Amino acid sequence: MNNNVEEIKSRLNIVDIVGEYVRLTKAGSHWKGLCPFHNEKSPSFMVNEEKQIFHCFGCAKGGDVFSFVQEIESMEFREVLKILAEKAGVQLEEYKGGQVTDNKKRILEALELATKFYETQLWKGVGKEGIMQYLHTRGLSDESIQNFRLGYAPNGWDNISKFLLDRGYNLSEIEKTGLLVKKENGSGYYDRFRDRIMFPITDVMGNVIGYSARVAPGGDESQAKYVNTPETLVYHKGKALYGLSYAKSEIKKKNYVLLVEGNMDVIASAQAGIINTVAVSGTALTGDQITMLKRYTENIAMLFDMDSAGQLAAKKSTDLCLQKSVNVKIVTLEDGKDAADVVSSVTFECS
Ligand SMILES: [Zn+2]
Repeated sequence: MNNNVEEIKSRLNIVDIVGEYVRLTKAGSHWKGLCPFHNEKSPSFMVNEEKQIFHCFGCAKGGDVFSFVQEIESMEFREVLKILAEKAGVQLEEYKGGQVTDNKKRILEALELATKFYETQLWKGVGKEGIMQYLHTRGLSDESIQNFRLGYAPNGWDNISKFLLDRGYNLSEIEKTGLLVKKENGSGYYDRFRDRIMFPITDVMGNVIGYSARVAPGGDESQAKYVNTPETLVYHKGKALYGLSYAKSEIKKKNYVLLVEGNMDVIASAQAGIINTVAVSGTALTGDQITMLKRYTENIAMLFDMDSAGQLAAKKSTDLCLQKSVNVKIVTLEDGKDAADVVSSVTFECS
């Protein structure tokens, strides 16, 4: 195990790994940034590239690349070892042969398989040929549909449960993914997502943790327009941000994030070249979400519909951002302009 750790450390640069979470700038022989572990306005978080360690002079947290990821992702050492080994291209002998029975890992694997299943259904045009057409009409290119891994959950009560049962998962494991609903009489389950367009929601590493599912065109519009994954071991809606894994490096580069209202807006923005865009899914903006964004930038531009609901949401979110010491701008859409026009004029006077 020790050999593995040393091997991984020698292949990775802590500056790159920390840089996935914190906007770092070079300061002499060190790198510095705003500490992701405590709330601060001026950077006291340092990364020493030569020694491959980090230290915060504000909250005194410090350590190597392993302790950093452990702390920021709230993971066990073994999980971090696995992730960093993959990044470093190091094979962990001890963990081969499917011995890892970790709950979270099983759930993530099942969700990855489910996502592939939904993607296949969409691209094969299963059940409904009009879905691709609908997405194209909404302006989405095939490339965007692929990048954001959109899929289709066909109509039926047991498509996904059968699919995952065939791949070695038992019902209680599948239930933990949030893909099933327990029947009211208590015996058995049925698929939560039926005849819906699936928008996978990922964690910051890009693992699918849940879905936002839109009723398919021509589907039963009397049902909720969007159904989301409920809280699970891996999905916490107050902590998830749609599009963040795709947007994060661009957020750092541009040093601001564009917050929009819906999944479709994120995809449309990215397609228009505004990749630093995320959305909250089925909640108002939360303090946890702002804390996550603060790892990448202190500047949030919010694009909201200026109807009364949009205004109220914008007001609430702005207050929360100010509490968290984040710079915030409300961007409104004038008639005939789209997000691309708006964003070209966004500037932040950084404090
Ligand atoms: Zn700190």
